[in-house]
Amino acid sequence: MGVINVTKTYLPNKEKYKSYIDEIYANGWVTNNGSLVQRLEKKLAEYLGVKNIVLVSNGTVALEIAYRTLGLKGFVITTPFSFVATTSSLVTNGLLPIFADIDKQTFNLNPKNIEKLITPNTSAILPVHVFGNACDVEAIDKISKKYHLKVIYDAAHAFGVRYKDQSILNYGEISTLSFHATKIFHTIEGGALIINDDALVKKARYLINFGIKNAEEIPELGTNAKMNEFEAAMGLCILDDIEAIHQKRKIVYERYRCELHNVVQMQTQNHNATQNYGYFPVVFKNETQLKKVETVLRKQNIFTRRYFYPSLDTLHYIEPKQYMSISRNIASKILCLPMYGELSEDIQKNIIDSIKRAVV
Ligand SMILES: *Cc1c(COP(=O)(O)O)cnc(C)c1O
Repeated sequence: MGVINVTKTYLPNKEKYKSYIDEIYANGWVTNNGSLVQRLEKKLAEYLGVKNIVLVSNGTVALEIAYRTLGLKGFVITTPFSFVATTSSLVTNGLLPIFADIDKQTFNLNPKNIEKLITPNTSAILPVHVFGNACDVEAIDKISKKYHLKVIYDAAHAFGVRYKDQSILNYGEISTLSFHATKIFHTIEGGALIINDDALVKKARYLINFGIKNAEEIPELGTNAKMNEFEAAMGLCILDDIEAIHQKRKIVYERYRCELHNVVQMQTQNHNATQNYGYFPVVFKNETQLKKVETVLRKQNIFTRRYFYPSLDTLHYIEPKQYMSISRNIASKILCLPMYGELSEDIQKNIIDSIKRAVV
């Protein structure tokens, strides 16, 4: 039996990808806002139901461009329960992460913890729709308006998620996406910014291209964050298959849910939002139980992932030290199970049975 990982990169039909490569070879244009990048931007905006989308080279740089587009300074209130890039991108841009602890059922930043952390130095709130579970966007919206704070959603997990009949990506000033090979929709490496304000779109486009506006003007201090044509081609192929990907994942997801809902704790979903079946996190009674399951599965060549561990308030480079007890507790006992459309029913049954045996 081969190795089973937490996810498996989706690769589209090779002939279709090749036809795009042929197109790139024919016109000789490989990067710098090429026609495939432009086509993908248009198609994604339509599919997602958003006004403006700017494609970039990865999801981490999407966050960095978002901070710079909005001119953030000082403190940013964020969640300690996420992938490390959410926090590290703040630090590398000279911003100080101030953590607000999560809700122990949704695993998202708990809006009740935000207000007491706001100071005159706070410029923004950076929540994450963890595992694609929509945040309490209305509560966050209210607080941000009351205190004039910007909101950036790290929506790396939330591709295609809808909230009350519109894209979740329309909330906040900017939402960012990751199109890394491990995500549901990918462009090998890649990412995007969803920006509501048209003037800010222009600024973001300068920022991803060295700050350059035209042959004579360089109005912004920019960087290089461009997506290339080979990546856009991958995205165009996968976008054609997205409904089928979604349907297959849903079957796998529901099988887990049905078999395990009485066995382990699961994430409580926002009932105003749709799901995208990107991850299947389960929470054990304690870390000992988690390690037992991890070990049993590893012996069968099945590799789960401890998303997200450790809790980001434990990062050594964060000063001042902050202690997020709920995030640390969840992080110590949460495991993401293998979750992708091609996961066979037999292997899934093995995983489910192993968990049932290990937790008794
Ligand atoms: C994947 C991910 C990122 C980083 O995206 P890359 O494209 O890998 O740079 C940021 N935040 C979250 C929550 C992620 O899961």
